[in-house]
Amino acid sequence: MKSIYDMSYKQMEEWCESKGWKKFRTQQIFAWLYKERVYDFDLMTNLSKETREELKKDFTFNPLELVRKQVASDGTTKFLFRTADGALLESVLMIFDYGNSICVSSQVGCNMGCTFCASGLTKKQRDLTSGEMMGQVMHVQAELDKKGERLSHIVVMGTGEPFDNYDNVMNFLFTANHDRGLAIGSRHITISTSGIVPRIKQFADGHYQYNLAISLHAPNDKLRSQIMPIDRAYPLDQLMDAVAYYSKENNRKLTFEYILLKGVNDSAEHAHELARLLRPYTCYVNLIPYNSVDEHGYKPVTRAEAMKFYDILKKEQIQVTIRKEHGSDIDAACGQLRIKELRKEKERKQAKALQIQQDQKSKPSFKAAMVDGTANVYDDAYEANEMPDPDKE
Ligand code: SF4
Repeated sequence: MKSIYDMSYKQMEEWCESKGWKKFRTQQIFAWLYKERVYDFDLMTNLSKETREELKKDFTFNPLELVRKQVASDGTTKFLFRTADGALLESVLMIFDYGNSICVSSQVGCNMGCTFCASGLTKKQRDLTSGEMMGQVMHVQAELDKKGERLSHIVVMGTGEPFDNYDNVMNFLFTANHDRGLAIGSRHITISTSGIVPRIKQFADGHYQYNLAISLHAPNDKLRSQIMPIDRAYPLDQLMDAVAYYSKENNRKLTFEYILLKGVNDSAEHAHELARLLRPYTCYVNLIPYNSVDEHGYKPVTRAEAMKFYDILKKEQIQVTIRKEHGSDIDAACGQLRIKELRKEKERKQAKALQIQQDQKSKPSFKAAMVDGTANVYDDAYEANEMPDPDKE
């Protein structure tokens, strides 16, 4: 069944019309969902019982269940969720001077295979629905509601490539941004892409006011194609053409993200090359401290090394910032918490399978039990498939 969070305002209006109800019902429903933030149809007290029953017939509420929460000393909080079909995904709440920001996942796993990323360790299982993305936001907002606070920013930068799930991501953001939805300002919403060129152009044509961030991470194709396989499909000349098109169509400043990997993309030469590449664009560079992922073997740079890179870009007249580290005392890398939980689940399954094997080896067979007269052996023998299933007879 669909989650009610899957529905955009327009879709909800159409659904109400299909029931023969006036459009203003949508206003009431959206107010309960996003202003009052109730999590039960029966709490929508200005709707008739019949209306609530109709809603219950067609929709569930939040499609995600919270599995685990990790809180860092700086307040950064990681949330691990499970979807209705058992997939795991994570979101991060980050506390800034300017507000509370959530990093949302857009897919279960990711096919982009960036070599430094925990999320890319598992292939994409599926796209997340708009409702599952909104579900992440509403869970985190519910936490903030307890303190009387609001989410002010959304970044679609968690597990997944948002432009590989374009329609669902845009539908979700539409509700997040809508006046009758969460009303988060479009300038407070950022989508990050690894560089899917056709979608960047599609996004440019939409003239959205959301911020666009490009995960660049290398200043040339030789290096970029090694650490980001997407570069082989859309090399830098095509990516920068799409960026130029976006800038022309939207007149907006772009962000380029650059994770500093020690001994890989962090030399002075790389900094100068990056400055040459980006000089024609109205943009700024966000240097990101790397959170180590055991499987990848990359190392973070020191603060002094990051500052050296920063200074070169500054001198080259490139606007640059170094992103503040968040949650460094928890599993800070994107997707790390999920990978750990998947590993634990695998270990649990293996242990269970082993236990079943051992149990079955040590059990007396049904025939043997009949010979020695054990009366209560029926259930065990039935489990071991030595008895016919009485329900099927
Ligand atoms: S960095 Fe982003 S695009 Fe690359 S593998 Fe990780 S989640 Fe996917």
